[in-house]
Amino acid sequence: MKATQFFVSTLKEAPADAEIVSHKLMMRAGMIKRLGAGIYNYMPMGLRVIRKVEAIIREEMNAAGAVECLMPVIQPAELWQETGRFDKMGPELLRVKDRHGRDFIVQPTSEEVITDIARQELRSYRQLPKNFYHIQTKFRDERRPRFGLMRGREFTMKDAYSFDRDVDAAGRSYDNMYAAYCRIFDRFGLAYRAVAADTGAIGGDRSHEFQVIADTGEDAIIYCPTSDYAANIELAEALAPQGGRAAASLPLTKTPTPGKSTCADVAELLGLPLTQTVKSLVLATDETDKDGTIVKSQVWLLLVRGDHELNEVKAGKLEGLKGGFRFATVAEIEDHFGCKPGYLGPIGLTAGVKHPVKIIADRTVAHMADFVCGANEADFHLTGVNWGRDLPEPDLVADIRNVVAGDASPDGKGVLAIQRGIEVGHVFYLGTKYSAAMNATFLDETGKPKLMEMGCYGIGVTRILGAAIEQNHDARGIIWPDAIAPFTVVICPIGADRSEDVKAAADKLYGELKALGVDVLLDDRGERPGAMFADWELIGVPHRVVLGDRGLKEGQVEYQGRRDEAATKVAVADVLSFLK
Ligand code: ATP
Ligand code: MG
Ligand code: MG
Ligand code: MG
Repeated sequence: MKATQFFVSTLKEAPADAEIVSHKLMMRAGMIKRLGAGIYNYMPMGLRVIRKVEAIIREEMNAAGAVECLMPVIQPAELWQETGRFDKMGPELLRVKDRHGRDFIVQPTSEEVITDIARQELRSYRQLPKNFYHIQTKFRDERRPRFGLMRGREFTMKDAYSFDRDVDAAGRSYDNMYAAYCRIFDRFGLAYRAVAADTGAIGGDRSHEFQVIADTGEDAIIYCPTSDYAANIELAEALAPQGGRAAASLPLTKTPTPGKSTCADVAELLGLPLTQTVKSLVLATDETDKDGTIVKSQVWLLLVRGDHELNEVKAGKLEGLKGGFRFATVAEIEDHFGCKPGYLGPIGLTAGVKHPVKIIADRTVAHMADFVCGANEADFHLTGVNWGRDLPEPDLVADIRNVVAGDASPDGKGVLAIQRGIEVGHVFYLGTKYSAAMNATFLDETGKPKLMEMGCYGIGVTRILGAAIEQNHDARGIIWPDAIAPFTVVICPIGADRSEDVKAAADKLYGELKALGVDVLLDDRGERPGAMFADWELIGVPHRVVLGDRGLKEGQVEYQGRRDEAATKVAVADVLSFLK
């Protein structure tokens, strides 16, 4: 590819809404272009990366015996009504109507459609096991789309679905996919960890998330450096031996000092040790008048960040809420946290008015009785907190648990460490959840109908771009791993407009590398060296070859790997050996 024929469009500054480095760099490198909240154009440079990611996934999925199909983006609501998800799924599911007023959804995932295919096509045990996958556009109306492709509303996912005759066979399908995922993420060249995840109502131990390690990750991973133990925070907390300890020991003996008590004090009052991995704790109150009309709403947000040190505990504003920190309504907070109406409050603020307060800790809802308090916005300290000591023991439905770095690993083989990660893949044993709901059966050896055992396996294709950049960048830009770089090598001729020799040598090297199947780009734009180098360092091409008159006289060019401090002079003929 020649740069003049391709499309290169870089920016000096990232747009103001880009918060994390991958989003900033993708925008600056011209990989994506925002069209709406969480909706992006994939520009030519970014699309090349997406295509390479997809190609690796395809190869490994095919090698693992999965077969590719393609299911529609727009799906009739009927199938989703069969499983109940049309109603259950909440606002993340985008529902649309056609001209006849019929309901459709824009697929966030495809269990319903694939199960519908399976119940029609897979009739006999002889056709099992079967694994179908597709790489398709998804839409999830995320509460907070952000970080560019990392949490988009429209994004690309590879989703695969396995069908088996019994639980054992489904386990083998699961293990097979788990192994394929390891090969896929190995090939991407990313540092990742497969962690056990919660299986929810399905039960069992077959759910793993593939997490790319990155400090900006929204997830926390608990692992033991000296053993195989690794789990996501939700599962680690659920299984922690001290689970519920904090909540159960809710002290009623202290009263915060009006005007002096900090959020940390309140956390202590609530029995949440400051080492607790509570990402956010929200207390919400609505003040109502006699008719029950809301006259004032208040919110407190406690944030416990990172490795949960005391000095990282702070109260903060609840971003994105209408009216800001203090005057959001309880309904808005419920919406913000994606919980059902009625999860929170309302409670009265007037001393003596006692209504139940509910606390959300990271979407885990705990109920608390009779609690009256106020807040001081200026320094985010709680003031006037009036803990009802004469009240009955709060009924704290304790789902607040803690896992702390340094705790003993559940396998007894060391201590726990905590890392942040980005969920890029998820493998999940589904059992007969969907086949039962949709009556997807096959005939076994004895001719009896049996429900199919299912598994589902997702990879966030577009999220991988963001995750790879979070892990691989420097002050100058992106550093793509070779396997998914938009181009593997860029040839930068200096003064090709003045020197026939340079132009000829650049063309020749370009032709040779192309003939060898190297994904090479020739920068024939005639840019000054500084601007040219800055562009390719920003875009993150892993290998660069610079040709200039002086070097060529000695038969040499300059090679520089994207992570190298300086260029190395090499004979033209030796360039290839650097591209391995
Ligand atoms: P998350 O916890 O980040 O919301 P999820 O658990 O809802 O993700 P899954 O249903 O497991 O996601 O989907 C499979 C994969 O799709 C995820 O592992 C992730 O890589 C990707 N993915 C999910 N939501 C998004 C999104 N909004 N934008 C980009 N990729 C996404
Ligand atoms: Mg999600
Ligand atoms: Mg998840
Ligand atoms: Mg998931």
